[in-house]
Amino acid sequence: MSKTHFGFTQVEESEKARKVAGVFGSVAAKYDVMNDLMSAGLHRVWKAFTIARANVCPGHRLLDVAGGTGDLARAFAKQAGKDSEVWLTDINPAMLAVGRDRLLDAGLMIPTAQCDAEHLPFPNNHFDLVTVAFGLRNMTHKDAALAEMHRVLKPGGKLMALEFSKVWEPLQKAYDVYSFKVLPWLGEKVAGDAESYRYLAESIRMHPDQATLAAMMEQAGFDKVEVHNLSAGVVALHTGYKY
Ligand code: SAM
Repeated sequence: MSKTHFGFTQVEESEKARKVAGVFGSVAAKYDVMNDLMSAGLHRVWKAFTIARANVCPGHRLLDVAGGTGDLARAFAKQAGKDSEVWLTDINPAMLAVGRDRLLDAGLMIPTAQCDAEHLPFPNNHFDLVTVAFGLRNMTHKDAALAEMHRVLKPGGKLMALEFSKVWEPLQKAYDVYSFKVLPWLGEKVAGDAESYRYLAESIRMHPDQATLAAMMEQAGFDKVEVHNLSAGVVALHTGYKY
């Protein structure tokens, strides 16, 4: 059986999804507060940039893959209005439950689906926009997930992938100290779970850098792939079109 990485550890491919499920099952209840603390609120700015560039129009069909607690789906549902179709999806029932509750609290009734990004339960050529924020990194077969996102997009549709990426070299040392010392400490104090936040830091280091992910998107069939570095490359927004 083939091996893959789970953070810095090599695991059987079949084991990775279970381990990732363990992480998000454990952090779901504290996920939003930890996001604010860990990024000092910056994740809101990264997501606002993505939402602004999404150019959502009334009537659009939108799919948020690995949408977790629903930040993007919530914003899109507000913008797109009644005649649109906005889906919140995630593989993890605990994350999805928090997301669905937050949508309901905001007065938004949109469809949600528990599904694996590598096998999306949607027809070909259906969506105007597919987004995946901080999810790709956790997927076992990123190429399969990208191919699925390409398949469900309409011709002319757009994929936006927001993800941690390769930070600007001069900041690397400070970023390492923050990631490997501060994050697990914060995880322990706030969520009672240092291990999941150690995985977060490791999974970021194992994720393809900006150029590699852009090449993977092209390989999956996307055209006009563009990369925007945010916060000195801590995060990058990759955009690509299906033609
Ligand atoms: N998109 C949300 C955000 O930006 O706040 C949540 C991101 S959270 C870091 C990563 C999410 O990816 C988790 O909710 C996890 O369950 C989901 N995920 C991991 N592997 C997945 C897969 N193969 N298919 C769908 N979702 C997946």
